[in-house]
Order: sequence, then structure tokens, then C-alpha cells
Amino acid sequence: VIPSPPVQPGPSPLDALLDAAAGILAADSLRETLGRISEHLRTLLPYDDLTVYEIEAGGRTLRPVFAVGAWIDEVMADRIDVERGITGWSVRNRRTRNVPNTLLDPDCTTIPGTDDEAEAFVCVPLLAHDRVVGTLNVYRSGADAAFTDAEVGLVERFATMAALAYDSARQRDTLREQVATDGLTGLLNHRGSQERLRQEVERAAAAGTHVSVVVLDLDHFKLINDSYGHGEGDRALAAAALKLRESVREADAVGRLGGEEFLLILPGVAGAGAAEAAERARGALGDVRVHGRPLESSAGVATAPDDATDAAELLERADAALYAAKHGGRRQTRRYAANLTARPSTGDERREIDALLRAHGGLQIVFQPILELATGRIGGFEALTRVPGDRRPDQWFAQAHRAGLGAELEAAALGAALAVPGRPAGTFLALNVSPHALVSDVVLAALPEDLGDVVIELTEHELFSADELLDERLEMLRDRGARVALDDAGAGYAGLQQLIRVAPDILKIDRSLVGGAHADPSRFALLEALSAFASQTGAAVCGEGIEDLSDLQALADLDATYAQGFVLARPGPPWPSLLEATADVTAARVRHGVRLAGAATSGSGAWTRALATLADDLSDVADMAALLSVGHRAARLLDADDASLLRVVDGALELLTDEHEFEGSRWPLDLYPGTLSLLETRTPGQVIAGDPASDPSEIAEMERIGFRALLMVPMWMGEGRWGLMEVYRRHAQAFTAAEVDRARVVALQFAAVLGRLWR
Ligand code: C2E
Ligand code: CA
Ligand code: CA
Repeated sequence: VIPSPPVQPGPSPLDALLDAAAGILAADSLRETLGRISEHLRTLLPYDDLTVYEIEAGGRTLRPVFAVGAWIDEVMADRIDVERGITGWSVRNRRTRNVPNTLLDPDCTTIPGTDDEAEAFVCVPLLAHDRVVGTLNVYRSGADAAFTDAEVGLVERFATMAALAYDSARQRDTLREQVATDGLTGLLNHRGSQERLRQEVERAAAAGTHVSVVVLDLDHFKLINDSYGHGEGDRALAAAALKLRESVREADAVGRLGGEEFLLILPGVAGAGAAEAAERARGALGDVRVHGRPLESSAGVATAPDDATDAAELLERADAALYAAKHGGRRQTRRYAANLTARPSTGDERREIDALLRAHGGLQIVFQPILELATGRIGGFEALTRVPGDRRPDQWFAQAHRAGLGAELEAAALGAALAVPGRPAGTFLALNVSPHALVSDVVLAALPEDLGDVVIELTEHELFSADELLDERLEMLRDRGARVALDDAGAGYAGLQQLIRVAPDILKIDRSLVGGAHADPSRFALLEALSAFASQTGAAVCGEGIEDLSDLQALADLDATYAQGFVLARPGPPWPSLLEATADVTAARVRHGVRLAGAATSGSGAWTRALATLADDLSDVADMAALLSVGHRAARLLDADDASLLRVVDGALELLTDEHEFEGSRWPLDLYPGTLSLLETRTPGQVIAGDPASDPSEIAEMERIGFRALLMVPMWMGEGRWGLMEVYRRHAQAFTAAEVDRARVVALQFAAVLGRLWR
């Protein structure tokens, strides 16, 4: 609990409230947030005690999460029933309750262990997204210490901010948890499993005990998918997960490593005990029936520290045992032993990859279009490698990496994709590169010098370590114009740490999260949280694996920039177009060669904070030069590369520049009907290179100054004075609806200052 600071004289209530908002938004953790709330509130009104309650799951009880004052221990020890007392009343009625004297109010209850002297008490429900999430309780000692209406109003305004800050801190915590969870089965996902295994191995080593892992694989699972469809396959996997969970102890962990492969982590269990657990698990899987037939499975077992002392190696050993079980006729458990039939020797694997690399005609590449939601046009194409036969491309790449030829194969794929001529103008090429390959010289040599229309998709199927070389390479590629995308987000490979470390320009959300999201609230919530997180880190969102139009719409509602999936187009020979009737679903209308911007409603803490800083900076601006420098910085706030301010004089646009204020270049508006119509109708609009709907003269002007996407926002300064804020991007990446809204808010701030300076 934060000690109470002395009451500070001075700031007006409004100043204090604004300070408080900034302070609360800047706090990262929930505790810090609540500490700041109480601290700031005290600068506005004197009080003795303050408590924040949170509604527990199920909604029947309130749990104290934070307290300041004389009775902290007692308050924190006592849960409150929502049916009782003033606090319960506030929650049930979603209303503030002001109690002038607790001794005179029959509804008041006393917390056990505290005294029952008279106090004044205000209880305000905390509302986030129209849900009551808890209450803010404020107390002042004395029989005539009642809170005035003005004070109650302040507490209520505080409660609004507290609720939002509280909610976003909570969401962040939930997101952390969900990112480690497999959406289909609720088990730990690939990443979650790896992290848990690492913890358990460390813990066992420290305690001098054992830990065993069992890797289980469903036999002939592909047959189920192929004969009965993916829906039936998914149901079988969910049922299998449930059975596995039931077959182990509470302290054991169960994960899904991907596809039809599961993992059990058994702390304190050694060799024979682990094999028994594996057999129990296989028996439990046999209870699941698909069209009358029991699920059959194979299992591999390894134990630390006997078979391996490190988590990755332990998993590899269990995997080798699983391979032996499969090879030995399936439907059995094998324990790791040094003499097991190993996977195909690296030698064989290597020869296969060598042959592939030397194959006549090189690798075959197909391309899948990526839709730009705001325009309905193809923003770019993802290159995907095809190898004849029934192995998936990712299996080939995995094999090549095992055989030490991963970088070579990836380089060959990149070269083949880049060599295909005729890519439609104004589209980017997205290339898959694993972090491991990215740091190799062959891959670097396969990339051209100018990467202005290239997106590097970091595909990651194992943890990538904190590798400085990788950071350097990414920086270098970015310097050469590349954008970096993080692939398969939410699938359990790319964790939040990666997100923060790589700071991707584009976050590709995995199809396991996007598919069916429109009909599944929990999946949608995770999608929402991930994309909010992405926008806070400045990344554009691309949803993958869109198989129906409702999911496409859901993605547009989330303010994603790009979408990709079978409903738009399957991967195909160069250069596939979009299926008719799907592309236009989300596109904005065009007038005079400019895309008219719609409106979205969304906000995020980080942005609000940045906006507050901008407003602060603007309040100090005394001349045009200072305004210009704030203008340049505003671009960053809008995830853009630059911004400029223009005014309209005598039917022409004039640019505010460093040297001569407004005497820079002039653009007669009658040559730019699109811009003119935006000013006349006071709507923002955008021009994107490569967009056939965009006016060629606007595009030419934009490209002349080195940019490929332009957002124009009219500014109205009264008395017949017009201006225009222009925001530029180097990449042809459209501004989403929420980004346009943000630009509107920013333009409003600039308009006020420009109006003041322009005499
Ligand atoms: P990825 O990078 O996530 O690529 C997207 C995969 O999703 C592709 O599978 C694509 O065909 C598939 N897909 C696209 N839309 C849909 C949809 O609506 N529904 C469904 N069910 N699937 C959809 P593909 O081509 O089999 O590639 C699998 C993985 O292999 C890729 O996943 C990528 O990780 C890897 N890969 C493919 N080509 C290359 C390459 O040239 N280099 C590297 N390093 N990896 C590659
Ligand atoms: Ca990809
Ligand atoms: Ca992907």
C-alpha cells in the first residue's frame, strides 16, 4: 500500500484530474494503478480510508484488491456478499451511494475487527465496457464529515478512469495467460508447454527430484480429417484433451504441441512410473470414439535428469522414443534408450534436401493475395513453396533445418519467389524467413538491395533466443526498406516477448484464432486483445486463414489492415486475383480519386497518453516554426513517417515549411479535384500508391516526395480559413478507420493552434 502523501495546495480540481488521468494511464501494473488513484484522489479531497473491491468470478462476492487507511489488514481479509451492505447495493443498482453518517444508515454493515465510529462513506461502482467490475469506496471519519455533491462528483470521475485503467491492466494479465493456451482444447499450447517444461525441469534440478515427459501422437489421425472433415477432427481432439486431463494428477501439466500431438509433464515421476502414466493416457484416449472406432495412439517417454538435463533435449528424447514407437508398429509406448531406432538419419534427410535443391527447374512457388481491407484491393502476395508429394512445405523446411541445410533451402525459396516476373504494380511481396535462416549469409545474399516492397515474415516454430545478430539483421533489412511481419501470432509460437522484441510492422494473426471468431466470443475476445496490443506497439494487423465472409467482417470490425484466406483467394500460380464479391465487402467509397474515410470508435491507453503529450507540446507553441516541429512529431503518433500542415489561400494549397513559413510551394486546388472535394465536404480521405481508384495526379505528387500512402484531413479554423493536415507513409499501407479517427483528433488540435497563429 502506497503511503499517503501530504495534501498539496494549489492545483485546480481540473488540473489535478488531468494530472491524475495521465498518472493512471502511465501506470503499468494493477497495484501501481490503484496506488496512483488513491494518491491523486487525496490531492482533490481529504479522506481517511479508501478501498477498491473487485467482483469475483460468478458475480456473488466482492474481493478487496486494494486498501489505504487505518484498517488495511482487516479490510483485506474480508470478502463482501453482493446481497449485503452499501457496497452490494451499489453493485446491484449500478449507482453511487453517498452515506453522510454510517451510524445512521440501517444498510451499513461493519467490517469485522474495525471499530464502529461514525464516518461518511461514498461508494461508486466501477464500470468498464458497461459491466460492473467492482467498486471504489471512500471514507472520512466523524459524525459530520459528509461528502459534498461536488466531492461525490469527483470521486465518480475518478472511478471512471480507475475502471478503465483497472480493466486494461486485467486484460493484459488475461492476454498473457491466453497466449499460452491452445484455443481448441484449452490445454497449454506449444509455447506454453515449452515454458512449463522448462520451469519443471529447473525446479526438479533444484530439488534433486525427477520429472518425466510423455509425448503422445494419435495414429492415423489424418484419416479422420480426410474421411469425416475437419469439424469431426476438431471434436476428436477436444475430447482427447479432456480425457488426457482426467488421466493425470492435478500437479501434472497437459499440452498440445500442435496437430494431433500432445504432451504430459509429470513432476516427481521417474522411468517406470512415467511409462505407466503413458499407458494410462493411451487407455483414456481409447475411450474417445469417432464413428464407433476408438482413438489409437503412440507414446514416447523420457525422464530428467536420467535421459537429459535440459528441457529442449528432454523433449527431443521423448520425441525420439515416440518415433521408435510409431516405427515399431504404433499403438504402443516406448521409453527413451540410447539405442532406439532413430528418426531417418541426418544423412538420408540431407540427401533428400540436396536432391530438392538440385532439382531441375528449382522450387515451385505459389502466391496468395493479401487483401487491404480499407481499399478492397490486393495489397500484396505471400510466396509459398510447393514440393511435389504429400509432405507440407513446413515439414520440408523442418527437415532441411535438421539436416543443416535450412538456410540453403530457404534461400533457394526466396530466390525462386523473387525471380517470378510481372508482379502487379503497387503490391508488396511477403517472404517467409525463419529467424535462424535470417542470420545466415546465403539468405542475405538472396535478397535484393532495395526491399521497399518486401515484407519479411518471421516464421518461428521454436523459441528464438535473444539473438543480437537477429536484431542487427532486422534493423539492416528495415534500413533497406523492408517491413517485418511476425507470423502465426496466437498459435502458440510467437509469444508476447517476441512481439515486444521484434516490434513488427505487421502482426499476422494465426488462422486458429481468426477462423470462426465471429461466432465464438472467447476467441473473438482474444483476437480483440491481440489486435489492441498490436496497435499499441504500432503494428498493423493481418488476419490469416479467413474462410468465410463473417470472419472477414469481424476482422474489419477489429480495424485490421490486411486479410488473407481461402475465401479471398487460394494460393495459386502467379499472379492470382481475388475472388469476386469478397474484396469489396469492406472497401471505402471513392470520390474524385480519394478514398472517403469512415469512422470507427476505439481508443487505447498508449494513444491517449501520447495525445496528452501532444496537446501539452502544442500549448507551448508560439510561432509557425515550433508548430512545424510538433507537426513532424505527430506523424509518429499516427504510425506514419511524416506529416505536414497546409493552408488554403486564393484557391491554392500552401505548405508550411522550415524556411519561409507558408511561402513554399503552391498547388492550385482545381488541379486536385479530390483534395478540393475533401475540403468542401470536410471529410478525411486517403490516396494509396497502386490503388487504381486513386487519382494518378495525386499519386504522382505523393511519390515525387517519396511517399506511398497519404492521408488528408481538412482543418477548419473559422472565418473562412481552411487548412489541411497531410500524413504520409513510405509504404503503400492504407490507414485504417481507427487511424483516420485518430488523425482527425490530432488535426483538431493543430487547427486550434494554426487558427491562433495565422493572422
Ligand atoms: P504460413 O506462413 O502460415 O502460410 C500460410 C499457410 O496457410 C499456407 O499453407 C496457406 O496455403 C494456408 N492458408 C491460407 N489461407 C488459408 C485458409 O483460408 N484456410 C486454411 N486452412 N489454410 C490457409 P502452406 O502453403 O501449406 O504453408 C505452410 C507453412 O509452410 C507456411 O505457413 C510456412 O510456415 C511454411 N512455408 C511455406 N513456404 C515457405 C517458404 O518458402 N519459406 C519458409 N521459410 N517457410 C515456408
Ligand atoms: Ca507466412
Ligand atoms: Ca501464418
